[in-house]
Amino acid sequence: MRKRKAVLRRAVVRCAKHVYLFDEVRLAERAAGSWEGVRALLGGKGANLAEMARLKLPVPAGFVVTTEACNAFLAAGGRFPPGMWEQVLDAVARTERATGKKLGDPADPLLVSCRSGAKFSMPGMMDTVLNIGMNDAVAAGLVRLTGDERFVYDAYRRLVQMYGRVVLGVPDEPFEQVLAKHRKLHGVANDADLPAEDLRSITGEFKRVVAEHAQRPFPEEPIEQLRLATMAVFKSWNGKRAFDYRKAAGIPHDLGTAVNIVAMVFGNLGQDSGTGVATTRDVTTGANEMEGDFLINAQGEDVVAGTRTSLRIQELKRLMPRINRELRAIARALERHYREVQDIEFTIERGKLWMLQTRDAKRTAQAAIRIAVELARGKLITRAEAVKRVSPDHVDYFLHPQFDPAARRKAKDEGALIATGLNVSPGAAIGRIALDADTAERWALEEKQRVILVRPETKPDDVHGMLAAQGVVTSRGGRTSHAALVARQFGKPAVVGAMSLEIDLDARRLRTASGRVLKEGDWLSIDGTTGEVFAGEMKTVVPDVADAHLLELLRWADGIRTLGVWANADYPRDAERARRFGAEGIGLCRTEHMFFETERLPTVQAMILAQDERERAGHLARLLPMQRADFTGLFKAMAGLPVTIRLIDPPLHEFLPSHDDLQKAVVELETRIRLGDGDPATLGKELQAKRRVLDAVEALREQNPMLGLRGVRLGIHMPELVRMQVRAIFEAACGCAKSGVKVKPKIMIPLAATSSELRVERDLLEEEARAVMKEQGVRVPYQFGTMIEVPRAAIVADRIAEYAEFFSFGTNDLTQTTFGISRDDAETGFLSEYLRKGILLRNPFATLDQSGVGYLMELGVRLGRERRKGLEVGICGEHGGDPASIAFCHRIGLDYVSCSPFRVPVARLAAAHAALGEVRDLR
Ligand code: ADP
Ligand code: MG
Ligand code: MG
Repeated sequence: MRKRKAVLRRAVVRCAKHVYLFDEVRLAERAAGSWEGVRALLGGKGANLAEMARLKLPVPAGFVVTTEACNAFLAAGGRFPPGMWEQVLDAVARTERATGKKLGDPADPLLVSCRSGAKFSMPGMMDTVLNIGMNDAVAAGLVRLTGDERFVYDAYRRLVQMYGRVVLGVPDEPFEQVLAKHRKLHGVANDADLPAEDLRSITGEFKRVVAEHAQRPFPEEPIEQLRLATMAVFKSWNGKRAFDYRKAAGIPHDLGTAVNIVAMVFGNLGQDSGTGVATTRDVTTGANEMEGDFLINAQGEDVVAGTRTSLRIQELKRLMPRINRELRAIARALERHYREVQDIEFTIERGKLWMLQTRDAKRTAQAAIRIAVELARGKLITRAEAVKRVSPDHVDYFLHPQFDPAARRKAKDEGALIATGLNVSPGAAIGRIALDADTAERWALEEKQRVILVRPETKPDDVHGMLAAQGVVTSRGGRTSHAALVARQFGKPAVVGAMSLEIDLDARRLRTASGRVLKEGDWLSIDGTTGEVFAGEMKTVVPDVADAHLLELLRWADGIRTLGVWANADYPRDAERARRFGAEGIGLCRTEHMFFETERLPTVQAMILAQDERERAGHLARLLPMQRADFTGLFKAMAGLPVTIRLIDPPLHEFLPSHDDLQKAVVELETRIRLGDGDPATLGKELQAKRRVLDAVEALREQNPMLGLRGVRLGIHMPELVRMQVRAIFEAACGCAKSGVKVKPKIMIPLAATSSELRVERDLLEEEARAVMKEQGVRVPYQFGTMIEVPRAAIVADRIAEYAEFFSFGTNDLTQTTFGISRDDAETGFLSEYLRKGILLRNPFATLDQSGVGYLMELGVRLGRERRKGLEVGICGEHGGDPASIAFCHRIGLDYVSCSPFRVPVARLAAAHAALGEVRDLR
């Protein structure tokens, strides 16, 4: 059966259609089954060119050689699959008919570009050759036809250079040397200002460069140029640049690239010609305004290369009003059609607009959110789609550091603002100046330094350095420059076109407009949101999530999700923040954190060291009002929302000084007494005190504190401590209730493994709770529940549920106890080796181990609810803020996830994604 299928498949490949004309998108759809399939088959660029042709937008004639042909070519070690080349020749003939021109015909020559284009856009990562079809005879014919010698030889020399680089691997420098020589000869700064005769002789010199470097002449035969260029584009799929980019962007390596053969249109035929790139909205802020750059009298790559200063797209209205109207109408049509912001390339040839590319635009996190919200408001997409289009990372951006406003003001006053460029990728970044990509990577990876990559401009070969850097600064280039595109894609703060910075790569330093000099390795702080570059290390703060579009999007997410989102908060100020971020309750308040505060710790220590119960009771009585005040603050902050308070959990020795320090102090005191260094009476007393603490610490010392006297065990061992906590909780709750604040305390008993532990503990504590309510003369609604954090608890969850009115999965400990791994030891030790070797695919402390820990959770939920109908179950481990884990929690029917306040917005979105079935399953 399998064999027959394979034979069939081979048969299909043999007679496969490898070439699709732009007006054959319907055929491609039939072959590929879906639009996704068309994109995979024709590549994004080819599919969209064909789609634009179907929409009757002005696209030059042309065709696509499929990604399948590319894969077959690469698999066959560089041979075209059977039939492909014949199909290409046929498509060339049809393109000739459509344009009325002929490849290689001096009387009216067709020129074409040979462009790469994979399923996912990889800007600038693969190769494109323009002006194919040019040779000496064609050039002469074109001069006769256009009367524009400089245009013709400019096109010709570009072909020779691109051809040399792409097909034959000739480096840029020798070409650049030729150009530089001619520029110097005429004293001009731009290639565009070179006279026509020079361009002609430059073409000849370029051909010599090619012949010299490649040991073979530049091919004059147009069809041969096309054949070799097609091969080169196919091969560029496996080029190092493309490979590195795919690795970083998570694009599979087996997709292959299509080749687009497109009839050339020329933006360099005079003042009524031009070329540009634009996004249909502002992809930095998300504002609904077209953004982009264009050049009059120039060819496509000039804009991206940033070699000539381009004009902002707004200028088009003044310079070419008719084209401007047409372009804006096309932009709107494309947005309506794709229901997404587009990134377009266009060329104007003697007053006629041509579309050369469209694709979904890359954008900043801020823009992603605003655009999704505004597209939904404009009814182009539904609210659910808007929610789907925003990723947890986009939301996360709002919770990342920005420069502290006061520090920024101060820096400005002190003259630390050394340059301002274009704000192309937002966020604050701090690091040491690194002046090339390799240095940036080395400092970042080997020396664990934070670096800012500073370059005149970036090229695809610099991507590894950009990824390693905290941020990027370039002195040249525009909003659509390579640096800007890549930085946005990877969320790196970037400032480009900071033209006042003079970068001296030889002396390894920068000079600012005011003459200040910074050396490589000096600190730099850059703000990609404002485009500012500061000398020195500036303080950062985390912003609030008050962005109006984000708030709206999260409200939509709230309407979609079924999972509650609570927060882990120990202090009133955390609780307030959590509520501001949208938390619907507190899922975990760790009471012991309050014991560690400096003014309380001595009392806590004295309580632990107490000789008898009476002494201990005295210290506990002093702790009671402090805890009561803590809880009152929490209840007030949460105003009636559930507050889950976990009773003391860690082993007691954590509150006492370290054993080693004590031992050292004892030895020191003994020595001083021996040497008579100080008053013997005072020293003796001190020694006695230290010894007492040391004895206590020794008595509490455990081989394995993580598995020792802690959690519910500690509560059972020292009941007066937890009883004090419960008293504090209920005195606070009753006090709040009396003053009109609604309260819903949930008392959580940690680390229970058996139902009897819970029974004993709960009986004791509930008695105390009732006593307080009686004293206070008010009743408050309350629950006793437990944290499920050892496997046994999950396995006997039905029995546990007899005494627990709610469950909360403490997945940090549950992961430790299920794996039998101590997290602290693992994460600094063998865990990274496991991940490197693929023994574990993910860090189970960051993303829930669904088949192991998750299995126990599923079991616990089922058994618990069997015993107690409607049992409320949540999660309060760090996994509660991890999108993949949240999707799992949704699937097994948890009521809520509880996470750090800063993760609450992310969790709200992730929970909505889970409800929409949007998250990939990790199992
Ligand atoms: P990339 O994917 O790197 O953007 P492209 O294939 O889009 O590469 O081509 C590079 C440049 O050449 C772009 O500016 C594009 O607009 C221009 N270009 C490509 N084909 C043509 C053509 N047939 N006529 C005019 N300009 C073209
Ligand atoms: Mg392009
Ligand atoms: Mg725990």
